[in-house]
Formats: sequence, C-alpha cells, structure tokens
Amino acid sequence: MKTGGLADVSGALPVALHGLGLDIKLLIPGYPEVLSKCRDTKPFATLDNPFAPGDVQLLESHLPDTDLPVLIVAYDAFFNRPGGPYQTSAGSDWPDNALRFGLLSYVAAWLGSSGNTSAWQPDIVHCNDWQTGLAPAYLRFWQGRKARSILTIHNLAYQGVFGAEMLHALQLPPESFKLQGLEYYGQLSFLKAGLFYCDRITTVSPTYAQEIQHESLGFGMQGLLHERRGVLTGIINGIDNQEWNPEIDPHLDKPFTALRLHDKAQNKSALQQEVGLHVHAQAPLVAIISRMTYQKGSDVILGLMNDLVREGVQFVLLGSGDKALERAFRELALNHPGRISVTIGYDERLSHRIEASADIFLMPSRFEPCGLNQMYSQRYGTPPVAHATGGLADTIVDATPENIAAGLASGILFYDMHFHTVIAALRHAVHLYRHDPNVWRQIQLAGMAKDFSWQNSAQEYLKLYRSLDA
Ligand code: ADP
Repeated sequence: MKTGGLADVSGALPVALHGLGLDIKLLIPGYPEVLSKCRDTKPFATLDNPFAPGDVQLLESHLPDTDLPVLIVAYDAFFNRPGGPYQTSAGSDWPDNALRFGLLSYVAAWLGSSGNTSAWQPDIVHCNDWQTGLAPAYLRFWQGRKARSILTIHNLAYQGVFGAEMLHALQLPPESFKLQGLEYYGQLSFLKAGLFYCDRITTVSPTYAQEIQHESLGFGMQGLLHERRGVLTGIINGIDNQEWNPEIDPHLDKPFTALRLHDKAQNKSALQQEVGLHVHAQAPLVAIISRMTYQKGSDVILGLMNDLVREGVQFVLLGSGDKALERAFRELALNHPGRISVTIGYDERLSHRIEASADIFLMPSRFEPCGLNQMYSQRYGTPPVAHATGGLADTIVDATPENIAAGLASGILFYDMHFHTVIAALRHAVHLYRHDPNVWRQIQLAGMAKDFSWQNSAQEYLKLYRSLDA
C-alpha cells in the first residue's frame, strides 16, 4: 500500500529493527490491498469500535516476503473500500477520515495500555504522521499502564485538521482542546495532538528537524516544535538496498555495477524506446519521478523544460498529482515529441527503469523532509540535481571544486529556489556530463559507493528507544 515515501519507511524500518532483535509489530489499516496480500491471517484480538457499531478485529500476519509480524486493523466499513487510503478515486478526502484514523490511533494506544488483553504488550508505540497523532493523546489521558510514545514527522504539510465537534465523537477529553493541547486555531489537529502529547518527536533528516522550527517550513507548528526541541531529533531514512540494487534489479534490461557502469547505456536506449524518446546515446537524459505538487517544484520544472530541450536535453517524467500540472506536462510532451516523455500514473517498474537509465535526476523540491529518489538515483549512478533543503542537503555532496578534488561530490545542489538558480544547476550538470566525463564519472561512482542502508538509521532509532527507559 503506497502513495509515497511513508510506505517505503513503514515497510523497511520495522524490518531493520526486527533484524536487530526488537520484538516489534507493524500496525496497519485493513485496506483491500493489505487484506489481499496478507492471506495467512490469525485472530489476534477483538475490541469494541468506540466510534461505530460492531467489533474491530485485529488480525496477525506477516509483511509479505519478510518475517515481520503485522497487525491489521480489520474494520471493513472504514478501510476495506475502493479508492485511495485518504481520498476517493475522484480526489476528495474521505468524509470520515477523522473516525478512520481516530480508530487507527485508538487501536495503537489500546495496544500500549492496560486495556490490551492480548499476550503481547509493547513498551513503545511509535507513530507516523497525523494519521496516528491521536495515539499519544489517548495514552496521556487514559488511566493505568501505558507505553511511551514517539511521533515521527514524515511531512509536516499534512496535519489531519478536523472540526471541533469531532472532539466528543473521538472520545477526547474537553481539557485537551486548548492551545496547550490539540487545538489548532479553533479546530482539532491530529498532528498537533501527537506532537504535543508524545514523549519524543523525530523527523526524517537532521536538516528538516532544524527547518521545521522556523516559520518558513514549520507549517504553523514551529512554535511547538521549537518549544519541544529538547525531545526532537532528525534521523535520516535509509533505503531498501535489496529492492534498489542495480546489480540484481529485475526491472532493468541490463543490470549493472560500479565496475560495469557502461551497461547503463543499454538501459538508456531501451528506456528511450519504451517511453517514446529519440534513441540517442549522447543526449543528456534528465529524469523526474514525483508527486506533481508545488512542494516538488513541478511548476519550476515545467518552466525550464522548453529552454533545456532547445539545448539538446531530453526529459523523462513519471508522476501524478495536481490535475492542472498533469495537463500542462502532457501538453508540453505533445509539443516536443521524442524529446519530452511524460507518463502520468504510478508505476514501480518504470520508476526503477528510469532511475537506472537516466543521466541526471532532478529534484527541485521547495522542501523535502528526507526524499528517497535522490538516494535511489545515487545508487544507480544517476547524479541528482537538487535543492539544498531537508534530507536532500543531508544526503547529497555538492560538486564544488573542493568536493570534486576530495572525491566526495555526488550531485549538484542549489541553495535557493529561483528559476534561474535551478536552470543554472541543471546546465552545470549537463556541462559536466558532456564536457568533463572523468569528473562526471567520479561523481557517479561517489554516489554509488555511499551506504544508504537502513542499518545506520535503525541503530539511531534503537538508541532513541533505549533513551525512553530513563
Ligand atoms: P514523497 O513521500 O514526498 O512523495 P519521497 O521522495 O520521500 O517523496 O518518496 C516518494 C516515493 O514514491 C519514492 O519511492 C518514489 O520513487 C515513489 N514515487 C513517486 N511517484 C511515483 C510514480 N508516479 N510512480 C512510481 N513511484 C513513484
């Protein structure tokens, strides 16, 4: 079940922690995809749905292809429906999201409380984003034994804000509805509840942990985050090194390694053919894979394509999102057949093929809590050109003369989000690719040699969990 980076993290971090010997279970709503992929379920527990008629079944299974235990919140009326996890197929939020994710939070808190009648009692409830933000609030207000709680922010822009009237329906005490609580300008904020009532806050890169304490990227939470900075840390996400390994990637025409970098060329020509670009080995091929939103700088990308295409650059874009942006990209592709390829949709296979085949990966995100594609692209010898924000700043070493001389440069960073700065950075990359092949190759190899595995990050989380014993 995936709409973005949160899925990559929720799938990989618990597996890495389990590998370190933690007794960990992943709690996930019973979406249709989850129920169909986790077939060998056993009943784990049953509890009353506090927000709707009937019982909630907790089913135990395993994450496919791993031995990680998964607990599925099976309540069909809330989760087993067609459409997206948060929105209808037409793109509007499900009207009962407050109750749906209230229930997910409630079950998480229930597991960590003395109400939990099962044999498995967690010491820590680790929540992710607004969808689980009420769990720390319930834990704070309920009586009896309680687990400690951590909230990880994957993206502060999504906050789960609902009308004040939901307070009662969600069984939250009236005293929680204040500035020093979960109230957000007269409304109820799931994210603020989590940030306010949890024991520790983490986010997915050290730079983003700093940035969100300031107005420009704090999305209204900067005051609270600054106040709680003593319990706030940034831990960079890892990547799944098995899934994203150019040596064994089943989606590629020609798997390759750092020692056989020239094999990228075969992938490039196959991709050019597949997506309708002119098959041209020397044309610099720039890739974009992202949600089409203002955050990702899709508008800036739209603005620069015309100029770069005139300079012989090709673009391959995969993504979906804002309908007006989708239309504009489609139109641009029609105007530049063979030079700009746009695929609207979500396609794992194609995303792997693009990472492997392109020459340059473009990420002009206005903000980026961690970002994953820049790590995938470095691993696939496709240097990123990116805005020096959040996790992009923490995972890419800019191709300054000093970093090139030291053999560390792994991409090209720009430091402000002006159209001219972005285009200059992209031209710099194209220039190195065309005219300085030795330096370009060194940048590719430096990226491929980096360790982005979950092991380091999982150790950081383990330290954090241990600090909660104190
Ligand atoms: P975010 O979570 O903000 O969308 P990230 O870079 O953290 O951004 O993670 C995005 C993840 O979703 C990556 O694994 C990326 O490859 C994937 N992705 C985004 N759009 C698509 C798409 N259209 N098709 C396939 N994968 C996509």
